[in-house]
Amino acid sequence: MHIRNLKYLLLSCTLLLSGCGLSAKRSVSESGESSVSASGLSFSGDSAYAYAAAQVAFGPRVPGTDAHHDCVQYIGRTLERFGATVEIQTGEVMRYDGEWQHVANICAHLPADSAYQGEKTVLLCAHYDSRPWADQEEDYSHRMSPIPGANDGASGVGVLMEVARQWQNLSERKRPVEIVLFDCEDMGTPQFYTGKQREHTWCLGAQLWARMLVESRESKAVYAFGILLDMVGDPNASFPREYYSEQYAKRYVDKIWHTAEQLGYGHRFVSTRSYPITDDHYYVNTIAKIPCVDIIHYVPGSETGFAWWWHTHSDDMRNVNPGTLQEVGKVLMSVIGE
Ligand SMILES: [Zn+2]
Repeated sequence: MHIRNLKYLLLSCTLLLSGCGLSAKRSVSESGESSVSASGLSFSGDSAYAYAAAQVAFGPRVPGTDAHHDCVQYIGRTLERFGATVEIQTGEVMRYDGEWQHVANICAHLPADSAYQGEKTVLLCAHYDSRPWADQEEDYSHRMSPIPGANDGASGVGVLMEVARQWQNLSERKRPVEIVLFDCEDMGTPQFYTGKQREHTWCLGAQLWARMLVESRESKAVYAFGILLDMVGDPNASFPREYYSEQYAKRYVDKIWHTAEQLGYGHRFVSTRSYPITDDHYYVNTIAKIPCVDIIHYVPGSETGFAWWWHTHSDDMRNVNPGTLQEVGKVLMSVIGE
C-alpha cells in the first residue's frame, strides 16, 4: 500500500445533538423488495474469525505501539491481496487531555464492474484500534492496561476483510465499495481522568475522515449510504435498531433489518430500538452528511448498555463466534450485492 500523507489538524467539531424520547418500534419492510436467500451468498464466518484472531494476536492495537503499526501493515497488505486499492489517511487530532494524537485510517477501494461505473459508493466501516484502558474492570489495579479488543474492534474489521475477499467472487459488482477502518475510535475520556472535560473525544479517526471528505470537496454525493460494524461477534449478540441510525438513515436501517429477517436472522437483528450511541457513524452522519447505520451489539437493561466484557480484559477471542460473524457478513454481502 502507499501512504497518502495528508496532514490535517482537527480543531473544531460540530455540537452533539442530545438524544430524546425512545420508544420500541417495529421494523418496516420496504414494499416490492425481492426475497433473498442465504445459500446464494458466499461469506465465511471462519475466515472473518481468522482475520479477527490475527489482529488480536498482535496484542492491543493502541495507537503509537508496534502492535498498532504491525496490524495496519497486516490489514493493508491483506486487503491489497484481495484486489483493493489501499491508502492510509493520516492526521493529527486533539484527544481528551488536550494532547495531539496521530491518526491513521485505513481506506480500501473495491471498484464496481466497468458496466456500472458512475454508480454511488457504499461505505463499509469499523474501527481497528484497541482501547488503551480497561476502565470497566471492577478491580482498579487492572484498569490502566489496554484491552484485547477482540469484539470491540477486531470483529467488525474481520467481517469487512472477508467481504473484501468475497468481493471478487460476486457474479456482478454493481457499485463501488469503500472500506474505511477508523483509528482512535476508542480513545475517549477514561473514567479515571480528572482534568478538564472535553467533548467529542471518541471516534477521532471518523471525525478526521468526515472533515477531510468535506474539505476535499470530493462530494459526499459520491456515497449512497454507509454501514458501520462495532462489536459484531458475540455468540449472543443482538442488534437493535440504533437511535441515531434511525434518525439519520432510517430507510437503510429498514433495508438492512428487512434483509436480515429474510435471511432468517431476525433473532439477531431485532426490531427494538437502542439508546443513542456515539459511535463512528454519528460523525459520518453529522459531518460528512452520509446516511450511515450502526450495527452494534447493545444489551438493554445492562449497567453500561453493552456486553459484560465491554472495555475489560475479557474482550478476547473466547467471546467471538464465527457463526455470528457469518450472519453479519451474509447480510452485508446481500445488501451490497443487490
Ligand atoms: Zn470500545
